Amino acid sequence: AKVLVIGNGAREHVFAQKLISSPTVEHVFVAPGNPGMQTAGISTINIAVDAITELVAFAQENTIDLTLVGMENALVAGVVDAFRAADLKIFGPTKAAAMLEGSKSFTKNLLAKYGIPTAKYAIFTDYQASWAYIQQQAMPIVLKLDGLAFGKGVTICQDLVTAKQFLQEAYALKEDARIVVEEFLAGEEFSIFTFVGKNQSVTTPIAQDHKRLLDGDKGPNTGGMGAYSPVPHISDEVVETAITTLVQPTIAAMAAEGTPFTGILYTGVILTSNGPKVIEFNVRFGDPEAQVVIPQLTSDFYQLLDGLVTGQPIAAAWQTADIYLGVVLAAPGYPTKPEAGHLVPMSVPAPLAINFAGVKMVDNQLQTAGGRVATIVGHAKSVFETQQVVYNYLNKLDISLQYRQDIGAKALGK
Ligand code: ATP
Repeated sequence: AKVLVIGNGAREHVFAQKLISSPTVEHVFVAPGNPGMQTAGISTINIAVDAITELVAFAQENTIDLTLVGMENALVAGVVDAFRAADLKIFGPTKAAAMLEGSKSFTKNLLAKYGIPTAKYAIFTDYQASWAYIQQQAMPIVLKLDGLAFGKGVTICQDLVTAKQFLQEAYALKEDARIVVEEFLAGEEFSIFTFVGKNQSVTTPIAQDHKRLLDGDKGPNTGGMGAYSPVPHISDEVVETAITTLVQPTIAAMAAEGTPFTGILYTGVILTSNGPKVIEFNVRFGDPEAQVVIPQLTSDFYQLLDGLVTGQPIAAAWQTADIYLGVVLAAPGYPTKPEAGHLVPMSVPAPLAINFAGVKMVDNQLQTAGGRVATIVGHAKSVFETQQVVYNYLNKLDISLQYRQDIGAKALGK
């Protein structure tokens, strides 16, 4: 089979690697991919993730059997609807189902309607009303700008001054900005990934990511600086509860609303003293979570995706012996002003793995050309041992890239 993966990051790199390891897959194309991905069986094609007409034409001309979408902007732009209209097999949510990520107000209203646990909230579209409401609320309070904000639309306000500033900035930008005001939930966070097909779904091992730039969860928010999976201190019971009270009811709610969800449902969960609650949904795999979860699949990835798309019965098996831990390497200056031209390691010794993101090839050497440039993934029996395996290697490298020294610290109670 021939497969197309849409996206250009380390997440799409690990998808492509897993797919080409399937005996039934002869070739994987990645659009647009990056120069770090080109290896036997994997090639990149120069089509942007939201160039939908070109993507459909490419899939038709090259008789692509199955397409997997990694990036949310392609989904929100309606790539799945376009492929289906052209009778092409694609795994991902329709534009309507992608609202679960694209619109926070849509999601909050859906959760409320179906009684699915989440933070209490109110939605506003004008300054006066939102400010009046916030003054009545307990601090901290969480303010979110509606619509795809690429991880930059959320502020946890410890005081009214910060809240007022958020509102002023938001309404200065857009007079009728839609703002979701949420109760602050305290508790540990984890992410559940569910592959959702027509009438069946499969949940992967859970993961925890590290969004902040610096050790100790300090510094600005990023796309994600590292992740590990499974999460040993979060019990199977808690995960099972989250699946039955949050994930499955949401899948059922989307179907009941006439916008059935298919694709990868990413449920951001916070484990409060009143049980697990939904923080957010994304409609694609997390990055860097994919880099530590996908390698754990011991059954055939292509068969799984194909079964989910066609409705054939599926089976998925995951390793349970090891902890997988990934450390993201980023260009100096990331996230505000990533510097181009720094050397990026091209390979790592097995059993470590490397997945590439924002890189370019110059004179046969990979260099930084974006913010996050690679993820280095290792696995061993415990979080502590895996940290040692990954960091013993990383800390000996002579590189000018940034990375956190404490991925996995949450599991060690630090
Ligand atoms: P991303 O998709 O990059 O995670 P986003 O813009 O979709 O970000 P959210 O996921 O809704 O934003 O929120 C970002 C982070 O803010 C969460 O991962 C969580 O740590 C924190 N957060 C959001 N809502 C709450 C809440 N109600 N209580 C406590 N923390 C919250």
